[in-house]
Amino acid sequence: MPVNAETFEQQASYDIIIAGAGCAGLSLLYGLITEIKLCQLRVLVIDKSLEKSNDRTWCFWETEKGPFESIVCKQWDSITVYKNNFSKQLITAPFTYKMIQGLDFYNFVIKEAKKSPNIYWQEASITNIEAIDNSAIVYWEGGSAKASKVFSSILPVDSLYTISQSTNTQPFLWQHFKGLLVEFDKPVFDANIATLMDFNVDQKGATAFMYLLPLDNKKALVEYTLFSKSILKPSDYDSELICYLNKHYANVSFEILHNEIGAIPMTTQTFANSVAPIYVIGTLGNAVKSSTGYAFHFIQEQVGQIVKDLANNQPVKTEIHNTRHQFYDAVLLYILDHQLMEGSEIFKRIFEKNKASTIFKFLSNTSTIFEDICIMRSLPTSIFLPAAIKVLLRRA
Ligand SMILES: Cc1cc2nc3c(=O)[nH]c(=O)nc-3n(C[C@H](O)[C@H](O)[C@H](O)COP(=O)(O)OP(=O)(O)OC[C@H]3O[C@@H](n4cnc5c(N)ncnc54)[C@H](O)[C@@H]3O)c2cc1C
Repeated sequence: MPVNAETFEQQASYDIIIAGAGCAGLSLLYGLITEIKLCQLRVLVIDKSLEKSNDRTWCFWETEKGPFESIVCKQWDSITVYKNNFSKQLITAPFTYKMIQGLDFYNFVIKEAKKSPNIYWQEASITNIEAIDNSAIVYWEGGSAKASKVFSSILPVDSLYTISQSTNTQPFLWQHFKGLLVEFDKPVFDANIATLMDFNVDQKGATAFMYLLPLDNKKALVEYTLFSKSILKPSDYDSELICYLNKHYANVSFEILHNEIGAIPMTTQTFANSVAPIYVIGTLGNAVKSSTGYAFHFIQEQVGQIVKDLANNQPVKTEIHNTRHQFYDAVLLYILDHQLMEGSEIFKRIFEKNKASTIFKFLSNTSTIFEDICIMRSLPTSIFLPAAIKVLLRRA
């Protein structure tokens, strides 16, 4: 949508526009308002809906207290993995696996930001973002605004589904799931142990597992999760979830308190690049770790890097996954995508042969080459090596 010079001058002007007030946009906003060198900036936050709901639960791992420690609703120091007769409990130290409710996060950041007179809010559906000279303009129906920098996390979900269906050479899987927050009328859970992956569920020709996070001994978030090319009907997740609960907690009645449903892209494909003055963050900004679907941890790293760059007047960098770990992600994704080995077997072997701390370091992209070799040696060389060569050849 072109603008003439006069309209351009008359437009409301900001230092920064945050396009999309979800996990990445609000994490960035929190970073800006809590950094002494940046808290005076005029920031406009735009989202199609500023009326937030408890639409997702984030889990991540840390060794120390993070900026959102006050809203962590539960944490675990032990995790378990199951596959057939295999079961292993791992101590996560020095990491702690933590959970934050989406709504607590949105309310926390929005409440803090509303204390700043230089933060502005616009509820609108963005139609376009374009760069003109050294500024960027964000358009929505009936309005527009300009800024020196725009940080966008607005993911065109429809085009993502088109990409996922296309015959692109890059692997593309969805991590899709439905979770139920259930409360039993008797104690049934050990609240200190999170079940990270229970593969004793219908695999549906893909990689599928139950993820069970007990909040106390009666209440848990239970999610049926799959890595596959297409997503299921909501009722298909429900039937697997109910079957699992009835099998494991027979004769104990439960109530469903809440549910969440989601699909996260797992791909090595780049959705968009940051080109000054428009920067991409969050899922749009390739923050999702392609082999696992975890993003919260990487969004915090990405935002931390941006805040540091802005505070130091440095060029803003949004890339966060280093080349070495991107390579491992690509190999694991290639093996999963081409079904060279069952996903359940891959993860079982990784958990069987390694300490949780090594796995969390690997998942955080902070493992050493020696630790990476240990993780990769969990897989048969006959599977890993040809996949690694294919990935290398594609990159060449
Ligand atoms: C249900 C669910 C659970 C998840 N759980 C975990 C987890 O446990 N751990 C983990 O690491 N990752 C998890 N993820 C993955 C990832 O952390 C989240 O998807 C995260 O919210 C991504 O942040 P984001 O800012 O990129 O996108 P979002 O949080 O989705 O934010 C995008 C924002 O842009 C707005 N928007 C979109 N289009 C427009 C438009 N045209 N105009 C204006 N605004 C627009 C949306 O309203 C939204 O507020 C989960 C994802 C889902 C869906």
